[in-house]
Amino acid sequence: MLATFSYVRLQRQNCVVREDVEKLKQRLSLLDYLRQQNWVARPAAHGPEFLGLCPLHPETRPSFYVNARKNFFYCHGCGQGGDLIRFVQLSRHLSFRESLAYLEQQSAPPTDSAAVLEQAATFYQQQLDRYAEALRYLQQRGLRDPALIKELRIGYAPGGSLRRHLTALGYSFNPLQRLGLLNQKGHDAFYRRVIFPCCQGGRIVNLYGRSITAAFAHRFLPGSKGGLYAWEQVQQCPEVILVEGVFDYAVLWQAGFRHITCSLGTHLNADQFRQLCDRPRTVYLSFDVDANGSGQQSSQQLAQRLCAQGIATRRVLLPDGHDPNSFFVQGGDAGQFQALLEAAQP
Ligand SMILES: [Zn+2]
Repeated sequence: MLATFSYVRLQRQNCVVREDVEKLKQRLSLLDYLRQQNWVARPAAHGPEFLGLCPLHPETRPSFYVNARKNFFYCHGCGQGGDLIRFVQLSRHLSFRESLAYLEQQSAPPTDSAAVLEQAATFYQQQLDRYAEALRYLQQRGLRDPALIKELRIGYAPGGSLRRHLTALGYSFNPLQRLGLLNQKGHDAFYRRVIFPCCQGGRIVNLYGRSITAAFAHRFLPGSKGGLYAWEQVQQCPEVILVEGVFDYAVLWQAGFRHITCSLGTHLNADQFRQLCDRPRTVYLSFDVDANGSGQQSSQQLAQRLCAQGIATRRVLLPDGHDPNSFFVQGGDAGQFQALLEAAQP
């Protein structure tokens, strides 16, 4: 039983490899590759053939033939022949898989990471409505306004389908793995997570994935989470509410507040801190009031650092055990939150 299973899996893997090889050869022909390596050739007497000195053995009279249509080479001097991958194996002394990886890198167009993230975010957005588990989770967290879901471009990563989608769009494996969208094994890195794109200067710089199960709640792609969430919208505001999480952000947005931003965690990176200090303003800190006091401790430390930069701060005191999200989910409304803002102490 086990043997059958792994045999099927092996076959499937081979199938994926074969597909990759075919795509690779379409992107980069043998002749183009040889020319990139400065192989000098002239058309042979007949057909789509080219003739030049053999790159695989020393010779003075050309005996290396390339058939451009079949994408094959053959050398009458050393007797070697085959396709592009075979040529790389022989000329660079690499294994089949190493040659494949090498060529993937050679042939990959320089990847614009913002463009890939844009494609990934759009794909995740399209999945949201198809998965009841995702919609149920948003409901639980109090997110129900379609305008909000559209505005924040909230999506869902069911897992196991992004790679197929992006490779069909022509993206190769390596850049997707480098960006962290795929893990070491080549599987989708985000699995059963609600996705929020993080933008800076109008471009997506990261994706935040909130697990809908208990496992590893918060996850970003490797690299910077960027600046403050949706900062461009509030940059001009003289008063800004700063919250920890995007679910806090979302319920406030839904309740009609617009001068909000989010640090995506209690720790602000240097970019985020600079943004808050870039002009005189009042910052309302509305971090979690959690049992261990870590939210309030961070909030206090941040208030001191901001104060040192001449930024006025007010600490919003939610009822014990609450964050803005749970406050609204458990029945709090805009009026009550407004009252908390007005009561906030420096
Ligand atoms: Zn040869």
